[in-house]
Amino acid sequence: MKNEHHFEADVIIIGAGPSGSIAAAQLCQKGYDVVVLEKQHFPRFSIGESLLPQCMSFIESSGMLPAVEEANFQFKNGAAFRLGDQYTEFDFTEKFSPGWGTTFQVQRGKFDHILAQQAEQCGARMFYGHEITAVNTGNEPTLLVSTDQGDSHTAKAKFILDASGFGRVLPRFLDLESPSSFPVRQSLFTHIEDNIQEGLERNKILITVHPQHRDVWYWLIPFSNGRCSVGVVATPEFLSQRSGGPAEKLKQLCQEDASLNALLTNSVWDTQVQEIQGYSCDVSTLWGEGFALLGNAGEFLDPVFSSGVTIAMKSASLAVPVLDKQLRGEDVCWESEYAIPLKRGVDTFRTFVEAWYDGRFQDVIFSRNQSPSIRAMISSILAGYAWDLDNPYVKDSERRLNVLVETCRQAV
Ligand code: FAD
Repeated sequence: MKNEHHFEADVIIIGAGPSGSIAAAQLCQKGYDVVVLEKQHFPRFSIGESLLPQCMSFIESSGMLPAVEEANFQFKNGAAFRLGDQYTEFDFTEKFSPGWGTTFQVQRGKFDHILAQQAEQCGARMFYGHEITAVNTGNEPTLLVSTDQGDSHTAKAKFILDASGFGRVLPRFLDLESPSSFPVRQSLFTHIEDNIQEGLERNKILITVHPQHRDVWYWLIPFSNGRCSVGVVATPEFLSQRSGGPAEKLKQLCQEDASLNALLTNSVWDTQVQEIQGYSCDVSTLWGEGFALLGNAGEFLDPVFSSGVTIAMKSASLAVPVLDKQLRGEDVCWESEYAIPLKRGVDTFRTFVEAWYDGRFQDVIFSRNQSPSIRAMISSILAGYAWDLDNPYVKDSERRLNVLVETCRQAV
């Protein structure tokens, strides 16, 4: 142990991803002393580049909108889906729910750095290269912190928000992990110089379904600088049947779809292909004495509808008012004021993710027989408005979706 230091604050936030920075900014705006402990140095790579319009309202209410708008990220107004020669587009401005209809496709290194800098400008004390390595629980939980300079510190606060994403600090140390309802899936991804001249709507994420395997899908997320994020999602068993390393597998799989292959003909693959597996996760509780879990530190479903950053920001925006009340000495119920409202939207996404992988939702979106009003309701969910109970496909997702699936299948 080289050096000892003790952090104390009203609130300590573990991790400076989107959920951590949004929570930090909003708490500082309410006058709290906030320390953010982040193990990496920013900017750092993160996967998850396609935002949903719903998250713009959290960026706006945290006072971060001008900085995000100035960053020259790729404008985004929808999502496009392809299966063989079937193609469909959702324009998020033509949606049922009120609110933002556009957003951005972002390089997360730069985006997360901007949010963290904005939180710092609001007064958050940010410490990079500070990793939480252990947790002592009790009335006032204490964190043990190791820096990449070899120093060790302790950190104590009136309340801890765990925004550590896949680091899952408190779920691991407090034994809160519980299995996800989704099977293990794996993703291979990279960034490319795309050199795509035509055939791609750059202001939409393109989701392509594998021509033979409907549970295997690719994303193509164009950026504003002529580059794209490209990735594939499949089961580990499926990917293990392909030869070569991650780069060969990803390229080979992209070649198996004719339209994707044509789009990527002139692309330059200049960046290492990365892989991540078993990312779907859950917890037994989203809160406890002196702490709450935000974003991916709680539950993570699946990347298919780009819901991760939106859920992360929503969790921060729900947690801050509850924590504010608690710190002002009022009675709060974290279950009814935080966990249940957050899960409502997560469960909407869950219904649609399950229906994506078993093919029901694919039958809906590729159906030619759709009423504009229903399409607007579906567009709302794809735009991230999964908490809007005025939308029948949110309020009664499973039943409504199944009726729609039947109608679309009968029309075929
Ligand atoms: P994170 O963004 O993961 O931030 C957590 C931070 O905590 C990190 O900076 C990390 O360094 C830090 N940390 C971790 N451990 C510690 C520790 N011990 N001590 C201190 N700091 C620590 N979402 C989308 O919205 N759109 C997409 O297109 C999308 N695509 C995805 C594709 C794939 C393959 C996967 C797996 C996920 C995707 N996601 C997507 C999900 C998205 O990446 C996450 O949901 C989102 O980043 C969660 O934000 P967060 O703030 O909870 O955590």
